[in-house]
Amino acid sequence: MYFSLWVELSYLFSSVLFVFGLKKLQSPDTARTGNRLAALAMLIAIVATLIDNEILGWIGIAGGMVLGSLIGGILARTVKMTDMPQLVGAFNGFGGGASALVASAELVRVQGIGDTLTLSSGLTITLSCLIGMVTFSGSFVAFGKLQGIVTGSPITFPFQKTFNGFLFLVLLILGISVMGIFNIGGISSLAIFSIFSAIALLLGILLVIPIGGADMPVVISLLNSYSGLAASAAGFVIANNALIISGALVGAAGLILTMIMCKAMNRSLANVAFGAFGAEGAAATQNGSSDKIARSVDPEGAAMILAYAQSVIVVPGYGLAVAQAQHDLRKVMDNLEERGVDVKYAVHPVAGRMPGHMNVLLAEADVSYEKLFDLDEINDDFERTDVVLVVGANDVVNPEAHNPQSVIAGMPILDVDRAKSVIIMKRSLSPGFAGIDNPLFYMDHSMMLFGDAKESMVELAKEVREA
Ligand code: NDP
Repeated sequence: MYFSLWVELSYLFSSVLFVFGLKKLQSPDTARTGNRLAALAMLIAIVATLIDNEILGWIGIAGGMVLGSLIGGILARTVKMTDMPQLVGAFNGFGGGASALVASAELVRVQGIGDTLTLSSGLTITLSCLIGMVTFSGSFVAFGKLQGIVTGSPITFPFQKTFNGFLFLVLLILGISVMGIFNIGGISSLAIFSIFSAIALLLGILLVIPIGGADMPVVISLLNSYSGLAASAAGFVIANNALIISGALVGAAGLILTMIMCKAMNRSLANVAFGAFGAEGAAATQNGSSDKIARSVDPEGAAMILAYAQSVIVVPGYGLAVAQAQHDLRKVMDNLEERGVDVKYAVHPVAGRMPGHMNVLLAEADVSYEKLFDLDEINDDFERTDVVLVVGANDVVNPEAHNPQSVIAGMPILDVDRAKSVIIMKRSLSPGFAGIDNPLFYMDHSMMLFGDAKESMVELAKEVREA
């Protein structure tokens, strides 16, 4: 009695820690503490569950912890920042799969002792299994697309949505049968459950294949939300309060993040899920502006312009992550600040390929958080700024967003074209993720510093020192 009270109190404590951990993830300077609080909460919840159910002895718990920490530690240390979305995708997949397995085990247990399912346990088992299986297979397709194992282009076939709808209907009928409401032709409910699980896995694959590789971070965030819902449903199946609460938190947080990403791209969730965006972008790429002329500048020229400016705003983008130029960028900016230049960084919410991508890169290079500004905070500053240095960014500074006919129409952008001069560091005039040309490159006050951002930044650092 007292023991189970302690377990419930541990669950309550870990749930409170989860909430505080999430709250601290709101800002880059408290995010590390937030992560640690949430990890501690998970540790408490796992240990309490294992002790409560007498699943494992202390040696087993310690062994599992060491092994898990080792795998997690190695992955976290070795994965490249640009590969982070697929790592999160794989973790979501395992989370969804685990919830589905918990629910399946409960069904097998109930059937094994010859019991019948109550309506509520039947419903939670079916839901947990459905969402968990869809998350499992969908997440691994997303992983494959980002890792280049599966083609990143949308895979579509005629009547795809109708077929998916049909599968969903079949799942509904099988699910109701698993819940024991009716029997399908004398087939055992475990056999029906196996068919149900296989179709749920297939649906996960079919839901993700028509989505373009570059949209995968949004899909991964949505699947993250699903994995939370599956866990929460599994919590109801085994009557575990910590699982119910933590699953609901993951479900809500994942959905909110998905909506934030969609809003920052000015696209609806339906457009991400069914728009086959990668295909559209590829077509738009063909319409380059070969007739327009972009002015180029060399590192020496760019260094002179930067060194004699009073104010500089840096706009980082995906190319900064690819080139890993963040450390050299900071060196250049440190040097400018020593010369008395006012330096700020403008961070667009969807710059890069995952939420917070630029914040993480700049934090890696020890750029102070106070110098980082969100789109809303900094957009009015551009017209008072001498030089904007755009490093590997494209869509997030594309004035085409103001053109109602454009595919990125309405996407909130950083209005860098309002600054006195703009230096853009990238390798060519090629488009970015959205696959459309960028008029900023051809404006009179814009200059292209062509080349890999890392190589150019090293040159720039040298020239700024000598300027
Ligand atoms: P973009 O994808 O628009 O542009 C990146 C640019 O980086 C390219 O044009 C490329 O030009 C350049 N680049 C690539 N490699 C290098 C390199 N080694 N050195 C220098 N430049 C390089 O990136 P943005 O950050 O501006 O925008 C992000 C886009 O991704 C948005 O459209 C957003 O909607 C989308 N997106 C973002 C998500 C997120 O969560 N952040 C999720 C899903 C999509 P070049 O080849 O000429 O060098």
